Amino acid sequence: IKRNPGEEEFHQAVREVTESLMPFILENPKYKQAQILERLTEPDRIIIFRVTWEDDEGNFRANRAWRVQFNNSIGPYKGGLRFHPSVTQSILKFLGFEQIFKNSLTGLPMGGAKGGSNFNPKGKSDNEVMRFCHSMMIELHRHIGEDTDVPAGDIGVGGREISYLFGQYKRLSNRFVGTLTGKGLSFGGSLVRTEATGYGCVYFCENMLNRIGDSIKGKTVCISGSGNVAIYAVEKATQLGAKVVTVSDSGGFVHDPDGIDAEKLAFLKDLKEVRRGRISEYAEKFSVASFHADSRPWSIPCEVALPCATQNDIELDDAKMLLANGCFVVAEGANMPTRLDAIEAFRKASVLFGPAKAANAGGVAVSGLEQSQNALRLQWSREEVDNKLQEIMEDIHAKCVKYGADDKGNVDYVNGANLAGFAKIAEAMLAYGAV
Ligand code: NDP
Repeated sequence: IKRNPGEEEFHQAVREVTESLMPFILENPKYKQAQILERLTEPDRIIIFRVTWEDDEGNFRANRAWRVQFNNSIGPYKGGLRFHPSVTQSILKFLGFEQIFKNSLTGLPMGGAKGGSNFNPKGKSDNEVMRFCHSMMIELHRHIGEDTDVPAGDIGVGGREISYLFGQYKRLSNRFVGTLTGKGLSFGGSLVRTEATGYGCVYFCENMLNRIGDSIKGKTVCISGSGNVAIYAVEKATQLGAKVVTVSDSGGFVHDPDGIDAEKLAFLKDLKEVRRGRISEYAEKFSVASFHADSRPWSIPCEVALPCATQNDIELDDAKMLLANGCFVVAEGANMPTRLDAIEAFRKASVLFGPAKAANAGGVAVSGLEQSQNALRLQWSREEVDNKLQEIMEDIHAKCVKYGADDKGNVDYVNGANLAGFAKIAEAMLAYGAV
């Protein structure tokens, strides 16, 4: 805390991981001796730069941008870029730190990084977003590369932004290589990348339920968010026979007691992916649904909760409400959406709790598959990528069980994910010596 003053989100992420790892580290003095945890909590480097761009009225604007290259012990740095006015160094450090463990869990050779800017894409024209992305890449391109650091999307950075960024990268470097992932299908993108995080989160949820002889079929599900992760979590949960009754955005949430069927999902995709509108429009279009301004969906009874919006979305009171209403499965589609005290409440109540670094690893896993396809200059079929995604999520689930099960067979997925992710990176760091 003294070394990183004011970085609350980063402290929160490190605390969650260190509490899990400490008993294991104390049992294995080699990790303590080599200061693995101290080294893991210090990024390899942080690049901070100004992005100057011109708005449609001809005014110059300036934003701050970062790339946090956290750890490349097991592969090139990899992690998304976030564009949101709330972005700070603390948020990008928490995301980059989490990314190290998540990428390790996928079994693919990827290190951890994160980046972004306090630029707000909301309300900006396509041309303004393009000028911002092109300007950002003028600095960023020096620090990234297909074997160095491979950025991707995150909040506020979707297909449109990645296309602008990749176009400028290609022009500046004069190379067509897979230095960014989440690209369009006609220029090196992977099938199923758009769906991967949301689908992966539901696959993970299904794995947790299958292990106790149950399934998501017939369950009532509350989802927060209505961005990339949320939309495809709705799609997969519905395909598997669940009833999704909520979605949200920063203006509030929508409750649809009949569930979001294929027609309503098509409306949602058009609203959010094409028109970039507000979620309140859903309740205007479908009269069975109600809109609840400035609130989160956790008061709505459900058996499964999938927080897919942003960090600290489930507070202790929300957790208590979910538990009182019979929720017994939570899988984190977003990064760190559950506060530490709320996680503790879920663990005490023996909720099946899938932490972000395991439950939302499907996105980066398919990004890793996009890198492989780019390196091979091939494009795999939708079925092939989806099968690989399902295998990877099953494998992550199995690792969590291996490292997180107690003598009675109960699984603590938080401990399991942290330990499994850590073990691989720590072995590499020990082997390298003092680097
Ligand atoms: P999007 O930008 O597509 O969607 C974000 C959603 O969350 C929107 O509905 C947005 O509402 C809402 N939201 C964002 N910030 C806030 C806030 N401060 N308060 C309330 N609501 C908010 O992002 P993604 O779906 O890509 O990302 C969602 C989460 O998933 C993030 O935590 C991200 O780090 C994580 N994640 C994403 C991956 C991916 O592949 N995309 C991979 C792994 C994790 P509004 O439109 O009103 O801002």
